[in-house]
Amino acid sequence: MPIKPSDPIALLSALIRCPSVTPDEAGALDLVQAVLEQHAFDVKRLPFQTDGQPRIDNLYATVGTDGPHLLFAGHTDVVPPGDENAWSSPPFDAVIRDGAMVGRGAVDMKGGIAAFLAAYARCVETNGPLPGRVSLLITGDEEGPALDGTLRVLQWLSEHNVHFDACLVGEPTNPNAVGDMIKIGRRGSHTGRLTVHGTQGHVAYPHLADNPIRALVPMLDALMNPPLDEGSERFQPSNLEITTIDVGNPATNVIPAEANAVFNVRFDDRWSAATLVAEIEKRLATAAANAARPGYAPIDWSVKWAPRVSEVFVTHDEKLVGTLAKAVETVTGRTPELSTSGGTSDARFIKDHCPVVEFGLVGQTMHKIDEQVPLADLERLTAIYERFIAGWFGLESDR
Ligand SMILES: [Zn+2]
Repeated sequence: MPIKPSDPIALLSALIRCPSVTPDEAGALDLVQAVLEQHAFDVKRLPFQTDGQPRIDNLYATVGTDGPHLLFAGHTDVVPPGDENAWSSPPFDAVIRDGAMVGRGAVDMKGGIAAFLAAYARCVETNGPLPGRVSLLITGDEEGPALDGTLRVLQWLSEHNVHFDACLVGEPTNPNAVGDMIKIGRRGSHTGRLTVHGTQGHVAYPHLADNPIRALVPMLDALMNPPLDEGSERFQPSNLEITTIDVGNPATNVIPAEANAVFNVRFDDRWSAATLVAEIEKRLATAAANAARPGYAPIDWSVKWAPRVSEVFVTHDEKLVGTLAKAVETVTGRTPELSTSGGTSDARFIKDHCPVVEFGLVGQTMHKIDEQVPLADLERLTAIYERFIAGWFGLESDR
């Protein structure tokens, strides 16, 4: 029996039944494709593969030819269920219990996709064809390495001269209740590996060796103190965490030859990756100079930065943020917080193409045993998305 495209519960149930653990598509994109084709979307499948990685399937669909162009982005892949016996019902059965649907991906983020598909169907039922263009970019590689997902599809779209005016990402953003929080940006993220080289030797004859840990300790202290900043209008303070210190020395009577530490920085809009790297290398150079000892060679150190940086971003698009916030307020009676908190998502790639915001379900059970969405939340999110679509295209929707 074909699924009624305006029913988010039926859509979500069917999506959860596809066990699409990254990198398996498992029929989830086929289902999205079938629903979109009922609405006359032009659907393309865009599989990509990086050497040594599994092949990843992606979907791009579009309807309409000119006018403002709205993109909805999300992912059908899910994290593994973990211990299936610990679930109160099988993780891919979409069982409804106590008014909630239980299943892997219920909130992260098949629920968001089901709500958007249903919202689009209702919007068109009410208003007829929209005065513009709606597209969906649904990837199968968000929970994995994210090499062959959104990033590659966006490159392909740029090469084909496809441009967007605004994007809504349907990731779960609300801490407690639908309507709590819209994400309008993210802190940046960068990782470095510090190595200090010394000279190996006997602990009883330290003048014949040069212990790299002596310099590593004050250098790490210099990274943490003073704090990088006190935050900014839209962002919490930048933070540097040392995530590991490795010497790998099994002997108690040997001075090691080398010491390493890895640190990650989450940075606010007072920094770019370039200015942050400059600040950190300056601190390390100063601390290394201060740690130098008479009669020893200068401290020999280096820092290796991760090849991929996530730059900080914040969306200032008033139409996008304002229309979404108004839709949330109308449906839930709540004024959503406009937040830049949390980890990275595919919005980090989309922000290079158009203004992007994120709004979806409540994140509390994501990635957990018994991930679940209250059916009332799913209905609420669908109503919000419907109002958002209508509002963004300038349609008066009095439903
Ligand atoms: Zn997600």
